[in-house]
Amino acid sequence: MAAIRLDGVETAAAIKSELKGRVDALHARGIHPGLGTLLVGSDPGSVSYVAGKHRDCAELGIESVRVDLPEDASSADIEAAIDALNADPAVTGFIVQLPLPAGIDENAMLERVDPAKDADGLHPTNLGRLVLSVDASTAFARSFPLPCTPAGVLELLARYEIPVAGRHVVVIGRGLTVGRPLGLLLTRKGVDATVTLTHSRTRDLAAIVREADIVIAAVGRPGLVKPEWVKPGAAVVDVGVSRVGTAPSGKAKLSGDVDPAVAEVAAYLSPVPGGVGLLTRAMLLANVVTAAERL
Ligand code: NAP
Repeated sequence: MAAIRLDGVETAAAIKSELKGRVDALHARGIHPGLGTLLVGSDPGSVSYVAGKHRDCAELGIESVRVDLPEDASSADIEAAIDALNADPAVTGFIVQLPLPAGIDENAMLERVDPAKDADGLHPTNLGRLVLSVDASTAFARSFPLPCTPAGVLELLARYEIPVAGRHVVVIGRGLTVGRPLGLLLTRKGVDATVTLTHSRTRDLAAIVREADIVIAAVGRPGLVKPEWVKPGAAVVDVGVSRVGTAPSGKAKLSGDVDPAVAEVAAYLSPVPGGVGLLTRAMLLANVVTAAERL
């Protein structure tokens, strides 16, 4: 059996095409969604991520504002840039690209972002609201941005019509950007998964994963999830991204957390690259558009 590929390219294209319609409708009302990015320094990975976000915006007719600061920018410089983005009416959502240079208090910088403009959905106020929104169907649950990668995983499952309600989902990794908020999203009323959140101290991870109807791996260890860990017919979503070398083209070679041989056991498998990463980018755009719709 070869697993059905949970194709991030196709799914992100479908989401973007729907967003394009929403952007056009906003333009007709005289509202222009805009994404801001704040990049400090010139880390090659960060430079390329930020460039990708601006290209995505151009594709959809979303304005974008790019603020680049030098590697030696002080906390006060970064705070001033965040304050300016908070105040800029052309920016309906923005991100502070991480990592920030050593010595800068990342949490303090992220907390300075206006929660209404938090395009990553990771501001403490918005994560707090996620904790409070037990029922996904309420107006409150739709009133704040969701973290992009977890929201992208749910969107991928939904678009492939993989049932989640009542299913046992094993999430591997309790990181703040993926695993932890995923558990909150998946257990909301209306989504109704039963979640086991695992981490590096979990005993007999393989046995727990083998019980899962859906496995979501967000660790950063190439090939961690082996075929013999996976229940036949399970859906496996690979969030992990590790750089494992350089391709002849000079581009980084990437690996996920899931051994590709899992495709012989699982019913569904998302690839790396070409899977969840593209959904994360699409959900960032969705947060910017939704923030503009709330204006
Ligand atoms: P993180 O904060 O470092 O969390 C990693 C988690 O993995 C931790 O909870 C850690 O456990 C757990 N872990 C480490 N080794 C393990 C093992 N052998 N068995 C079980 N759990 C183990 O990382 P993150 O930010 O959540 O990101 C996780 C991965 O997702 C990374 O590869 C990252 O690049 C990728 N990612 C991808 C996207 C995307 O859009 N595709 C977005 C965000 C992140 P402890 O807590 O016990 O240390």
